[in-house]
Amino acid sequence: MPAELLGAHTPIKNGLGGAIREGKRIGCTAVQVFTKSPQLWKAKEISAEMVADFKAAQAETGITEVVVHDSYLINMASAVEEGREKSILGLTDELNRCAQYGIRYCNSHMGAHVGQGVEEGIRLLVEGAKRVLANSDPSVILLMETTAGSGSSLGATFEELKAVLDGLHGDARVGVCVDTCHIFAAGYDLRTPETYAETWAKFESVIGFDRLKAVHCNDSLKPFGSRKDRHAQLSEGEIGETPFRLMVNDERFRHIPILLETPIENDGHERDLAKLKSYIA
Ligand SMILES: [Zn+2]
Ligand SMILES: [Zn+2]
Repeated sequence: MPAELLGAHTPIKNGLGGAIREGKRIGCTAVQVFTKSPQLWKAKEISAEMVADFKAAQAETGITEVVVHDSYLINMASAVEEGREKSILGLTDELNRCAQYGIRYCNSHMGAHVGQGVEEGIRLLVEGAKRVLANSDPSVILLMETTAGSGSSLGATFEELKAVLDGLHGDARVGVCVDTCHIFAAGYDLRTPETYAETWAKFESVIGFDRLKAVHCNDSLKPFGSRKDRHAQLSEGEIGETPFRLMVNDERFRHIPILLETPIENDGHERDLAKLKSYIA
């Protein structure tokens, strides 16, 4: 059976309700949003009206699967204590904002070790995530996003994410979001049926599909293994259409939100969504 939850990151200029309606307009059955500006720490309080409009939009559109993406400022592995504290409080707030809207998933880049080394970085992520989970609403699941490994960002290998999961004793409130551009840039090939199968087999053996809660569906402007995070329109980048064609027909992804974060110029998301749908056999 084909994938049922195809969507995109949609803008919140008309609130989260507006983002859901925009998702419906372009053909989404799942949506990713920010709940605040991702470039700022501060956030507008969520009012009862904002929540009511979001729920009304969900009822109107039938879009129930929503993922929140956290702020770009968060680094729970910062070398500076003040930065870590701000990040832990910031991510806790992101999860609690999800709970206010009744949203289940909060996706996070978690952090970069900034020269302290992978081991220390992972230790800090585990300590930070423990506090985030302890101080946030238990209805919300924290998703760790795979990274391209640019700079010292953690989560560029499945093993690093597994180490964080292990540090959290496999807490059921932690899942993984795989970004296809990021894993490709980090050295996991997907371009042929063989490499697609190998990469997902590695994912299954290291992390397990039961932890996969979302996919960011992006082609890559930069070459394989470049460790550079630049998204491209589907089938127009270095990855090409093969893995996206396979994914939407892969039973393992049937109930996983597959979310575009490709360039939005010239109706980019609409065009990419149409491509994804056309790949369904
Ligand atoms: Zn991201
Ligand atoms: Zn992503």
